[in-house]
Amino acid sequence: MLVQVAIDLALDRLFTYEVPEALEKKLAVGQLLSVPFGHREARGFAIEVAAASAAGGLTAQSPARPSRPSCRSSQKPCRLKPIAAIVDETPFFSPNLLTLVKKVAAYTAAPLETVLRTALPAAVLKKNARPRELLFVEPIDQEGTRHETGDVRGSPRQRELYAHIRRLGGGWMAQLCRELKTTPASIRLLAEKGLVTISVRAKRRSPLGNRRILPSKPLPLNAEQLAARDAIFADARPTLLFGVTGSGKTEVYLQAIARELDAGRGAIVMVPEISLTPQTVQRFAARFGDRVAVLHSALSDGERYDEWHRIRAGTARVVVGPRSAVWAPVKDLGLIVVDEEHETSYKQDETPRYHARDVAVLRGVIEGARVVLGSATPSLESWHNAQCGKYRLATMRCRAGAGTLPDVHLVEMRDGSIYSPELLDAIRLRLDRHEQTILFLNRRGYSRQVVCEACGHVIECPDCGLPYTYHQADDCLRCHVCGGWTARPAICPACHAPALEYRGVGTQRAEAALKKCFPRASILRMDADSTSRKHTHDDILDAFRRQEADVLLGTQMIAKGLDFPNVTLVGVLNADSSINMPDFRAVERSFQLFAQVAGRAGRAELPGEVFIQSHEIESPVLRAVVRGDFAAFATDELKARAEGFFPPYCHLAMINLKSKDLKLVGEWAAMCAASLAKCPGLNVTDALPSALEKAEGWYRWQVMVRAKSAAAIVKAWRWFVSARPAPTALRVTLDVDAFSLT
Ligand code: ADP
Ligand code: ZN
Repeated sequence: MLVQVAIDLALDRLFTYEVPEALEKKLAVGQLLSVPFGHREARGFAIEVAAASAAGGLTAQSPARPSRPSCRSSQKPCRLKPIAAIVDETPFFSPNLLTLVKKVAAYTAAPLETVLRTALPAAVLKKNARPRELLFVEPIDQEGTRHETGDVRGSPRQRELYAHIRRLGGGWMAQLCRELKTTPASIRLLAEKGLVTISVRAKRRSPLGNRRILPSKPLPLNAEQLAARDAIFADARPTLLFGVTGSGKTEVYLQAIARELDAGRGAIVMVPEISLTPQTVQRFAARFGDRVAVLHSALSDGERYDEWHRIRAGTARVVVGPRSAVWAPVKDLGLIVVDEEHETSYKQDETPRYHARDVAVLRGVIEGARVVLGSATPSLESWHNAQCGKYRLATMRCRAGAGTLPDVHLVEMRDGSIYSPELLDAIRLRLDRHEQTILFLNRRGYSRQVVCEACGHVIECPDCGLPYTYHQADDCLRCHVCGGWTARPAICPACHAPALEYRGVGTQRAEAALKKCFPRASILRMDADSTSRKHTHDDILDAFRRQEADVLLGTQMIAKGLDFPNVTLVGVLNADSSINMPDFRAVERSFQLFAQVAGRAGRAELPGEVFIQSHEIESPVLRAVVRGDFAAFATDELKARAEGFFPPYCHLAMINLKSKDLKLVGEWAAMCAASLAKCPGLNVTDALPSALEKAEGWYRWQVMVRAKSAAAIVKAWRWFVSARPAPTALRVTLDVDAFSLT
């Protein structure tokens, strides 16, 4: 018997070993093995097991990628080394998860080992101290609530104690004694009466901080919610749950999960890291208690170890976490929820560059699990899939609970001023009423496009309709899609004013201007510059929450996950700067941003107002934002995507090259573009310096590749890198379905 082993060296190949007869019966794929490697021992995962043929090769189906024996010579049959030991007999990867890992490795052109490492938190393999064992008290549920109403024998105090324990749903002995001001002896008496059980349990190092969470009951669903829940279980297709903010999507998730749990299956809930707040986690823990495991980046090794092992053991049936939760080893997976599915943080920006939403859909197919993608502003990829029937669409238009959506006003920017009179009046009113204001100015430093400060005109490529990017090195404007270029004009082509600017107004200038208007107002500014040191981010937000400032002025980093009850005014200072980013997703992101922003104002009792300033108030995106009409926006934008051959009508990959050697990176990029352009079915742009031409001493170039299938791009890429291995002074990476074009 032979086994192919993935060893964590990022060599992008598997190694074949012999299985000693004594281990044959115990060996299974997904196990962690110890194998001889060179002169040392290495750890690796069993990927494929097969009977040895006479020739010493594998008789199994062809593996994911070529495999060579673990000895140098691959010419003559050689003796394979045997594996040393099985480190842990319980596999770390189920066969289904291994299939998923292989597919993601193939799709993203990443080494299998790297995907394995991503799928399994490093802490899980560390030899941590055993979890502590403590006494746990659990009430015994005896025919409804009979015991609460006085049937319990014993003193009134004991009855009261039992009622409290029931209400809390049990707990750790020590914690109960503290909270209920009682003694272990009293609780033991209840155990003797058969009202509670006391058992020894491993006290997990819980990310919830062993906080007590009161159980919550399912709410009666409204008609839209019922229809959405039924859609999830209607057929095997993923469901796109398109519901406005506050429409009660979470309640739908909760009840869909409950149904899976009742059927003995588990669930994964993915939430963007930034929204993974204690409040979010508590909503799941309140419904499902101990069956919830939380995975997120801030966990200690111990917490992560415990949570992961609870999931693998099947004690935890519901996993809540960010992108990486898609790999959680949930047994009998029944449902995967991807909340805020449009969020770009689901795409990993290092190898393997996977998109967790897409991996979730793939995992759903492999495991036969339902998949729900929820959003108030779905990605156009998912929306397109719903329109063409690949996904099922469920729509929720009404708010389920309290709260109203704010009024949104569009204000035309006329002269070069940063603040319109309308917005200034609105701010003044808030200052008088001691309410708070949030102002957005989306100005990223490196997008050096050319904007007319007088009329707002942005200079665009006539062929692609996307803004040109200014390149200082050769003092010209370039299109990052078609590679076209033009000389830098001296005056604005639209209004002929000599007022062309390379960046326009940034947050610092906006802050200074506001101070001039309202000298006594206190203003907090938040952007990449003001938050470079750690924690400053939270410090600023906390100060604003404590109402220590009247105005919070910042970039899009303040758009998400904020909920300030005293904010009744939100202003977008320059909508155009976000719409006109040189990125085909700029319009989509702007819509999402403005819709998010609009959701910020007036969450509580105070009604809210939103002002969006723009030079082009007739633009269809802004009109759609005001009407809250996502469908109209999506239809419009999809048409433009189809015409420009952009996703979702193609797959788009970026090849990013960087080197400290400017000449090398430019030449290599050109050679790469020329080679790939010869491959049939690929649409390859010219090699170009990235918009961010130089970062941390590295010169950066890029080549954009588009094709009908992602596999075609990966195939061409593999051919290219094996034919032309990059010199060590050069880093070349492929980003399939890229989100970052810079
Ligand atoms: P979303 O996830 O779509 O933004 P939430 O699930 O957070 O919306 O729900 C918004 C509010 O509406 C919450 O306070 C929730 O408790 C409440 N809610 C949800 N469903 C119902 C329902 N069926 N009946 C009453 N209130 C509901
Ligand atoms: Zn162009």
